Amino acid sequence: MTASSASRFPLLRRAGAALVQWIDADHAPGGADRMRAEPDRVDWVRCIPFIVLHAGCLGVLWAGWSPFAVGCAVALYFVRMFAVTGIYHRYFSHRTYRTSRFGQFLLAVWGGTTVQRGALWWAYHHRHHHQHSDGPEDAHSPHVHGFWWSHIGWITSRRNFPTDYSKIRDLAKYPELVWLNRFDTVVPILFAAGLWGLGWLLEIHAPGLHTTRWQMLWWAFFVSTTCLFHGTACINSLAHLLGRRRFGTGDDSRNSWILAFVTLGEGWHNNHHRYMHSTRQGFYWWEFDPTYYGLKLMSYTGFIWDLKPVPEAILAEAARADHASSVAAAQRAAVLHPELSSFRKVVPAAAALAVATVNAAHANSPRRSDGPAIRQDVAEVVRPSAQPPK
Ligand SMILES: [Zn+2]
Ligand SMILES: [Zn+2]
Repeated sequence: MTASSASRFPLLRRAGAALVQWIDADHAPGGADRMRAEPDRVDWVRCIPFIVLHAGCLGVLWAGWSPFAVGCAVALYFVRMFAVTGIYHRYFSHRTYRTSRFGQFLLAVWGGTTVQRGALWWAYHHRHHHQHSDGPEDAHSPHVHGFWWSHIGWITSRRNFPTDYSKIRDLAKYPELVWLNRFDTVVPILFAAGLWGLGWLLEIHAPGLHTTRWQMLWWAFFVSTTCLFHGTACINSLAHLLGRRRFGTGDDSRNSWILAFVTLGEGWHNNHHRYMHSTRQGFYWWEFDPTYYGLKLMSYTGFIWDLKPVPEAILAEAARADHASSVAAAQRAAVLHPELSSFRKVVPAAAALAVATVNAAHANSPRRSDGPAIRQDVAEVVRPSAQPPK
């Protein structure tokens, strides 16, 4: 392709640029700003590696399976989900804890094995999401663009390929991070090759495992990475659709324990949209947040430090919000369903009282008067003689 023929055929020019971008993610003929200003449009050539990632899952039909290869796929899903949430999200996007410069580099390499582009690209887009959440500018809002675009479509769009380094200056000042971000296929390729090599060694040295190099490639890399992508993408799509809203955040973020399980704690998305600067997203012990437990353990080694807590004022706000919703739930049981048996009324009433009791403890500071009041209000609503409000 000569320069003159390329300029005469814009499609050809875009395809040529997309091929270069497979290697150099910062390649942007005409400038990154111009790319970002384009309308949303799938760039099929640029997305071939992403399509291959999905198609590669079919390799398991040819290579078969072994408990070791499938076990690796599952383990690597969780090890790398931890990298997505604990590293790309809670470190690079929100800086909720600190580490050394070398530690930061190691975290970026670990994050690179997730095959979700570079840490800086990820952080730029995520900060942009918080800034414009569920508004017209949000690149992946299910309310603006529909479910599938928010789940997978947005990352296939040309306008979302470049990293705007001017918006992440705190990270862009480290050339080693910029390099990993620019050549974002290096870590994934080495990672896949490493798994393939491990499989080869197992064929020779541990034949009893019945694991082949191809099983390791298809299962531990392709299947595990594809599942990891869709697990992560659920936060962009489903976490703004399914679950409860504790805080009025101005967007439609939600808390879901199911998504928290799939994503190691990211399901407490409404909590996170209310206060994005804390390391933990499950604000209470019963809000399952394994990423936080892992980061806490890492902090004991001295590798990371300064984990940011949830401020007391936010916990008190949460307690008041939960209190209001448990009173409303108890009232619904008493008012809307007078036909229910006493037993069926007792269950939601007891649940409301339990929530109020636990939350009362969290409402003790800074407004100490809220604690007893929360318990008292619920007790009044749910006691058998309570009359429904007129
Ligand atoms: Zn969100
Ligand atoms: Zn976030």
